[in-house]
Amino acid sequence: MKKVIKHIPLSIKILIAMLLGIAYGLIAINTGLVEFTDNWIAPFGTIFIKLLKLIAIPLILVSLIKGVSDLRNTASLSKMGLRTIILYLITTVIAITIGLSLAYTIKPGNYFPKERQESLYEKYSESISEGQIMVQSSKNDSPIKFLVDIVPENIFFATTNNTMMLQVIFFAILFGLAIISLPRDKTKSVRKVVDSLNDIVLKIIEIIMKFAPYGVFALLASVITDVAGDNPADSAALFGALGMYALVVILGLLSIGAIIYPIFASLLSKLSYFKFLKGIFPAQLLAFSTSSSAATLPLTKKCVDENLGVEDEVSSFVLPIGATINMDGTSLYQAVAAVFIAQVFGIDLSFSDMLTIVLTATLASIGSAAVPGTGMIMLLIVLASVNIPAEGLALIFAIDRPLDMLRTSINVTGDSLIAVIINKFVSKQKKL
Ligand code: ASP
Repeated sequence: MKKVIKHIPLSIKILIAMLLGIAYGLIAINTGLVEFTDNWIAPFGTIFIKLLKLIAIPLILVSLIKGVSDLRNTASLSKMGLRTIILYLITTVIAITIGLSLAYTIKPGNYFPKERQESLYEKYSESISEGQIMVQSSKNDSPIKFLVDIVPENIFFATTNNTMMLQVIFFAILFGLAIISLPRDKTKSVRKVVDSLNDIVLKIIEIIMKFAPYGVFALLASVITDVAGDNPADSAALFGALGMYALVVILGLLSIGAIIYPIFASLLSKLSYFKFLKGIFPAQLLAFSTSSSAATLPLTKKCVDENLGVEDEVSSFVLPIGATINMDGTSLYQAVAAVFIAQVFGIDLSFSDMLTIVLTATLASIGSAAVPGTGMIMLLIVLASVNIPAEGLALIFAIDRPLDMLRTSINVTGDSLIAVIINKFVSKQKKL
């Protein structure tokens, strides 16, 4: 029996764990086991996410230093960097445009029962003011503050905070560049250490992944009990009220995953999209369960390297940057949410408002940390840019978690696809 279980692919194990977690969550709501779940099941989900985050920074640091120092020269790095950033921006802008078009044509705001508005404000106003304070404090900053933020002043400090991944990436690239620029015999021993560290980090990821099915079970069970809250009937009614909005977000996410990405895959990578999806399926499931691209990063890299044959030097560069700045799912969601809230408030958005949304949602998704719920907080920036009241966030708060799960899966899919495409460019260049 043990042997049979060992040979079940990780994706199937995670899928089964997800289904069992959902089934358990539904049973828990109806049998008064919510508190038990909070106290005894949910902590295992938290432990699992902590383990994944624990390894994310060492993984970025080591694999990126290794990746960059394996490159032939600095020119290939800047070429790869430029292509990566351009592709990330193009997919983000397409995602926002799809979100805007869908929300504009389907008009989900017209389906929202107005009598719900007051009760939602009351329920979520506190959480919104917390987000507002966060966003407000960055209002007077220079428009290029993000550039200042990328440069760490103390690398040890940067590695102690998961929201400073771009700083860690910056240092790793600098370190790798210094290695390439020095004569090989001077860096021989460092290269060897980095190689071994890389193997050790990969082994740790393998060990953590053994715990994945249990962690995923706990995460899904607690999501279900959290979302249902103390009053499942009321939550169900709320979901009904927000149904059309959720549907538009889901439709948008599906069109990215089922139309836009396959077009990119066939035009730029010649890889069968089905094979691509099969390869990254475990990462998509984990992204769905954890709602965090950063926590999923170790598995995303494993899938892209092992199942899709992407070179380490590419995945270690493209994926961590993607997890931090490329969030197609999040930016689409922000566009739909902004239009939805405007519609509920009866605010007409002009064409220039739409362009402002494209710009701010791009910046907001770049600025969103890859952890649960930040896409919603960053939405405040988008709302403020077109004068939509921040209170509007209360309307969509209750349903954010399930949508976050879906958008995170798309975020991870987008990063992986660009990694495959960049890999194709790089291997073509090598042959020249
Ligand atoms: N949870 C998303 C991610 O980690 C970010 C967001 O949309 O809140 O990719």
